[in-house]
Amino acid sequence: MMLSFLDKLVKPRRMRIVCNGHPALRKRSLPIVTITPEVRELAARMIVTMLENEIVGVGLAAPQVGVNIRLIVLNTCTDSKRCAPTLSPGELLLNPQMPLALVNPELLSVSEEMDTAEEGCLSLPGISGHVTRPLRVLLSARTLEGEGLQVECGGLLSRCLQHEIDHLDGKLFYDHLDQDEQKIAAPVMKSLERREKALQ
Ligand SMILES: [Zn+2]
Repeated sequence: MMLSFLDKLVKPRRMRIVCNGHPALRKRSLPIVTITPEVRELAARMIVTMLENEIVGVGLAAPQVGVNIRLIVLNTCTDSKRCAPTLSPGELLLNPQMPLALVNPELLSVSEEMDTAEEGCLSLPGISGHVTRPLRVLLSARTLEGEGLQVECGGLLSRCLQHEIDHLDGKLFYDHLDQDEQKIAAPVMKSLERREKALQ
């Protein structure tokens, strides 16, 4: 009992974000069957890692800290003023709860309408490029408390969910770049890979 009391006082420790070249980034992650204390602790550590990174992260997926389970954390709304009534139902629901962890997130459907925007990734530092994705998605997920939710998401939340769920399927935003942007990013991808492999 004493130990769990003390545990709560200790700030979750930040984790190393793995970069291109780490095998966890290219694996399909496994669904979470039971939300154990270990899953909750990992989520807390991922949130600290996302928030304390030098480049401000708006999302992080478990494979990015080397764990292949279907868990993501999000922080797409830090400013309460951005929680305006014109936002999508998902943003209205989830923005006030950020930073937030989602268990087994999946997209039940995506809009035909597409949107192109610049993306970056904490696992691909030094790389950015334009990615075209569906504008809106219908999200299904569980919270850390095990509560199920199903909600339509737009805006940055929609883009971030698609980017993070890609991570759970072993995909990187680099894969979506057009040939020209891939060509520009390729040398950086290679050097990240060399550095990451040297750490293993
Ligand atoms: Zn990423």
